[in-house]
Amino acid sequence: MTRNNLPLPLGSTIGILGGGQLGRMSAMAAERLGYRPHIYSVEQDSPGAQVAADVTYGAFDDIEAVAAFAAKVDVLTFEFENIPRATLEYLATLPHCRPNIDAILICQDRIAEKTWMETSSITVAEWLQVSSLADIDTACAKLGFPFVLKTTRMGYDGKGQAVARSREDAIAAFEHLAPHPLIAEAFVPFEREISIVLARGVGGELAIYEPVENIHQHHILHQSILPARLSAEQTNICTGYAARLAEALGFVGVMALEMFALPDGRILGNEIAPRPHNSGHWTMDACPCSQFDQHIRAVAGLPLGTTERHFDVVMHNLVGTEGFNAWSPLLAQKNVVPHWYGKTEVRKGRKLGHANELWAKGTMR
Ligand code: AMP
Repeated sequence: MTRNNLPLPLGSTIGILGGGQLGRMSAMAAERLGYRPHIYSVEQDSPGAQVAADVTYGAFDDIEAVAAFAAKVDVLTFEFENIPRATLEYLATLPHCRPNIDAILICQDRIAEKTWMETSSITVAEWLQVSSLADIDTACAKLGFPFVLKTTRMGYDGKGQAVARSREDAIAAFEHLAPHPLIAEAFVPFEREISIVLARGVGGELAIYEPVENIHQHHILHQSILPARLSAEQTNICTGYAARLAEALGFVGVMALEMFALPDGRILGNEIAPRPHNSGHWTMDACPCSQFDQHIRAVAGLPLGTTERHFDVVMHNLVGTEGFNAWSPLLAQKNVVPHWYGKTEVRKGRKLGHANELWAKGTMR
């Protein structure tokens, strides 16, 4: 084991919990940096398992299997945060998990996440915890209509939320969304959705990419576009949010903050991802050091790379049948760099790959 030596020597093993596309691209970056990726995957032949030198198959709640995996790796990191609490509590007893498990627990719970953002001086939409029908009445009075009800756990890609346009809507949503408590959040009349990806190293050093503009379809990321249409002041706000948050969490690795940009220039924090993020895939071809390279560098204790952007870029997410059909036309475009995730089955809403459309910097818009 080389885990106490930093930076991790060449040939050390990087364990990645999760075998999805983020695990696959992290494993590919680890290999390029001279490490041996070991993926822990629930499913056989997952995108990550297809490319990693070593794979352990097991469920996330199988603590014995997770422990056996953890014992074989020099550093243990994550591509997925919705891991059962008992497993995370076990992992918290180990010395070689990066990021720290507290940061993951915070990001699993919208109440902790919002509270943490507020204590890091990140402005968020007005919100309150909803545990009962009486709280629904308070939400209706305090937030006005419409407002949004969200589950506090396991929500992603718009799952586990509903827009309440009346008290009746709110009651119906309260009854079908689970588990409780929920949060109620003011509806944000945003101009754009944006996010920022950053890496923080073991010594606290930061590498922050430019904020990116995100277009969603059916609640799933459709495109990320750089440069984002943001003022210099808004860009500074985003960078400040990202830096304060990573610092407060004592984060090591790559994380992302999703935000709303309002017409009056304000930026509201929405959600934290404690791992590389779909809206950071543009960095793979527009930057010398991608978010996956940064993540491996950070958890391995290597110096972080540059976050300079050398192209304007549209990252096209390839989702479901529409994404499958877009693959060939995109491949035929000479300025597009394709990334397929090796998934064998096309399903509605499933992310199959992405493609970065590159333009000389300063020429796209
Ligand atoms: P989330 O799961 O919080 O990332 O929300 C998924 C999507 O729902 C966001 O990307 C927004 O498009 C939309 N959304 C979430 N919260 C709000 C809000 N408070 N006001 C308006 N739209 C929202």
